Amino acid sequence: MEKENLTTLEIFHNQKDDAFLMKGMKEWNEDANWGRYMVDFSPEDILTDNYSAIGTSALLDAFRTLGLNDYLERIKKLLKEGRHHGIEIYYNRSRNIRVMYCKHMNTLGIQNRSQAIRSGGIRRHELSESEIDVLIDGLNLARAMTYKNAIANLPYGGCKTVVQSDPVNADDLDALGFLGYVLFRLRTFTGPDMGFTVEMADTMREKFSKAITGGSKSPMGPTGGPTAYGEYLAIKEACDFVYSSRDISDKTIAVQGLGEVGYTLAEYLLKDGARLIVTDTDISRVRNLQSKWAADQVQYVAPEGIYAADADIFSPCAIGGVITAEIIGQLKCRIIMGSANNQLKATSKEAEIDLARKLADAGILFVIDWAHNTAGVLAGWAEWIWQEKASFDKIKQKIELVCRDNIRSLLEQAKSTGKTPTELVYENVEEVVYAGLEFGEAAPFGENG
Ligand code: NAD
Repeated sequence: MEKENLTTLEIFHNQKDDAFLMKGMKEWNEDANWGRYMVDFSPEDILTDNYSAIGTSALLDAFRTLGLNDYLERIKKLLKEGRHHGIEIYYNRSRNIRVMYCKHMNTLGIQNRSQAIRSGGIRRHELSESEIDVLIDGLNLARAMTYKNAIANLPYGGCKTVVQSDPVNADDLDALGFLGYVLFRLRTFTGPDMGFTVEMADTMREKFSKAITGGSKSPMGPTGGPTAYGEYLAIKEACDFVYSSRDISDKTIAVQGLGEVGYTLAEYLLKDGARLIVTDTDISRVRNLQSKWAADQVQYVAPEGIYAADADIFSPCAIGGVITAEIIGQLKCRIIMGSANNQLKATSKEAEIDLARKLADAGILFVIDWAHNTAGVLAGWAEWIWQEKASFDKIKQKIELVCRDNIRSLLEQAKSTGKTPTELVYENVEEVVYAGLEFGEAAPFGENG
């Protein structure tokens, strides 16, 4: 984009006829004062007197000339395999900020009569990370968001916004104004995910966009709290299913990551008398928890030691891709249930189902994350819809339905069919997500549509 002097690049994939279309544009001047967004200018203003645009064939030529043909082919393959709609890239050259908006299905959101037709979090990655790895992360997370929204009965498609930039301070109006402007273009509502601080969300919400939820000063507060409540309920249900009791006071639970979700979840579990083995790459989070609870209730293990911890339950609440065929051999637990997105190291549904089967064969109960780490999007949605009137009480029952009752029925149904819960929940949700495509009818709306 830098070589072609582009600010915007869009890659669309039409699944019906497997067609690809690309658009490249120069839409704003490099010296745009993003800190004045929503004061001096709005998303629909003209931001340059030097606009230019190029289409698919010129962009294909550009990719070829730059020796990036294989790179483009790889991206196209990823879009096709994941059944994604495409990627929109917004590039702020002067600050070296790349926003890559990964779009999955829109069937549930396209007619929801809202500015946001998709929902999914926003993650920041370091500039030192490889761009393709960041994109793969975004595409995987976008796919999971389609399913998560469907599970939560929300009328939105799935997406994820991945940002590659240097760390951004909460008072950096230039960077956050740019992100606020882009957010309007994306037609999503979002909330902070890893690498994107709740303080950044606060500034964006105060000055630039009501489409960012889950800041520390937001009406709902950070989404980690509701997500932790949902995970707590799901863990108790899994416990009852495996051990015939929801009482966890005799259980040892290994928690990986004590961030927004993990820390709150740990406190729920500790209050119920569970013993925890915890880890975090940021040791201060561990010390913080240990300072508040009895030493024999919170034991620390180094990050690499968490998989082999002598625990009944393993709760991944940090990075994704932690469960591999090799790790399964190390696990001593009988249940895996935690908030981390994309816990299985896989880039396709088939690979996930395969790993889920391996876990079941090893005697470990596992349910794919998007089926139960759903309360975060419910909290974000509540704030998006009700803004200042949003509250945890308004969604508590919904969280209980999705993360407790529906998880319970899924486990029962899986047992009676001999399928893994992951395979079964994929089948159930795809009936909804792809219904509009396969039958040519409008997609069903959730009760909130
Ligand atoms: P967070 O950034 O607040 O916390 C993550 C924690 O994990 C941090 O304390 C970090 O130091 C630690 N960590 C990072 N790498 C680690 C490693 N290798 N080993 C041990 N600890 C490590 O993020 P969060 O909001 O708590 O989210 C945690 C996970 O849950 C993420 O995968 C996120 O995508 C997912 N999730 C979050 C929500 C939500 O509402 N916040 C909703 C759904 C899913």
